[in-house]
Amino acid sequence: MNPGSYASLPERFFARVQPTPVAAPRLIKLNHALASDLDLDLSGRDAPALAQLFSGNVLPPGSVPIAMAYAGHQFGHFVAQLGDGRAILIGEMRDRAGVPRDIQLKGCGRTPYSRGGDGRAALGPVLREYLVSEAMHALGIPATRSLAAVTTGESVQREAMLPGAILTRVAASHVRVGTFEYFAARGDAAGTKILADYVIDRHYPQCAHEKSPYLALLKRVVSRQAALIARWMNVGFIHGVMNTDNMAVSGETIDFGPCAFMDAFDPATVFSSIDAHGRYAYANQPNAALWNLARFAETLLPLIEADTQRAIGAATEVLATFETLFNDCWLDGMRCKLGLSTAEPADRQLAEDLLKAMHRNQADFTLSFRALCAAARGGEGDGPVREEFRNSPDYDEWAQRWRARISREAMTAESRAESMQEANPAYIPRNHRVEQVIVAAVERGDFGPFEELSQVLAAPYVERAAYASYAAAPQPQERVLQTFCGT
Ligand code: AMP
Ligand code: MG
Repeated sequence: MNPGSYASLPERFFARVQPTPVAAPRLIKLNHALASDLDLDLSGRDAPALAQLFSGNVLPPGSVPIAMAYAGHQFGHFVAQLGDGRAILIGEMRDRAGVPRDIQLKGCGRTPYSRGGDGRAALGPVLREYLVSEAMHALGIPATRSLAAVTTGESVQREAMLPGAILTRVAASHVRVGTFEYFAARGDAAGTKILADYVIDRHYPQCAHEKSPYLALLKRVVSRQAALIARWMNVGFIHGVMNTDNMAVSGETIDFGPCAFMDAFDPATVFSSIDAHGRYAYANQPNAALWNLARFAETLLPLIEADTQRAIGAATEVLATFETLFNDCWLDGMRCKLGLSTAEPADRQLAEDLLKAMHRNQADFTLSFRALCAAARGGEGDGPVREEFRNSPDYDEWAQRWRARISREAMTAESRAESMQEANPAYIPRNHRVEQVIVAAVERGDFGPFEELSQVLAAPYVERAAYASYAAAPQPQERVLQTFCGT
């Protein structure tokens, strides 16, 4: 491990900290595929030794542990001092592609940024983050990764006493919109510039060669976020707490607190227990992202141009591209989901009308699209999609238009169906399944369901008979309506 490039930035960017040792760490999961991607040499370490390592009880050679400082807008309100209150960046590793990746332990004790918190994480949220972040990756959506999870042998006080756990998170970097806000809010122009140069160097090196590097940085971040949120929307993902401190400038999905996937399609879906007004509801995610990007842009204004009015003008123009970028990515994704390989002007309407019909008919988002793959083979295959619709003629009417549309393409029915299966997952981390995993682990110490769900989600586009039940929507009594960030 190397100390990490962030630790070489000025001291005011972070605090030097040590993980607080835990009593009895036990390894519950090691992500072998990711470990091999990172060329991590764990040979000669048995499970207890790995538990020592992934709990922070023993740091790997070369590690320089730090907690990063950041600020952030939480539900629209600015908080000048947040920072890693329970996460410690222990260093960097280069993956097989040569890309530096941050290695962070989450839940390993208090830091100067903990405020009132205990610096710990409960097992449930650790398992949720592990499952959902890895599921996102398997779906092909940029996300921080989970390398390992350990239980600590200690309890944490939440709504009840719960088993403690630590997650090892791997990220392209942990720089957030809130990191920029931290310096900008302090009037620390030099700090903002150092941070922007760091991010350009690490994530967007092409920007350095452009006429206005910081405006170019804004453009890149806007376009990555537009693409990211479009991908979320295409799979029914709801982040749940899109505060500016939970938005990574690398364009990776980060901070899987109260996140969840939608079952029946409803644009107003909110799971997070702390999101009383639906600020981060499914359909509001593009707006929330743009709002966050505006906060990001504000921090860059002094770097973009000395003349504030001109800087605002230039940044506003870039922000104005978000909507089109998002809409285009979203539509590209919908075309793949609908099996369209060409573009026609009425495609957006066709996609939107399907979603409206799904909403009216309380159709399950994931099951409907997956069933549509079979329907692409011919009229016979319509049965399972029709079943998703309370009033099936609603689907039939739409399907007629869809068939007319696909008949104008040269593709064979079989290859269309196959390509659709690569865009419409069979398996997502259904909220009721995640909850069942958490209950089994927390109440019975049984990690079998966690292990099995991890296996299912590792290949979301490939149906396997043994896992058929994982594709199913929840029964009414299984439905989970609220998720908690567990902080
Ligand atoms: P989150 O809502 O998880 O994105 O966290 C918001 C802020 O609260 C961040 O600064 C976290 O580091 C901090 N935080 C969350 N949980 C804890 C905890 N248990 N102990 C200390 N700080 C925490
Ligand atoms: Mg956070």
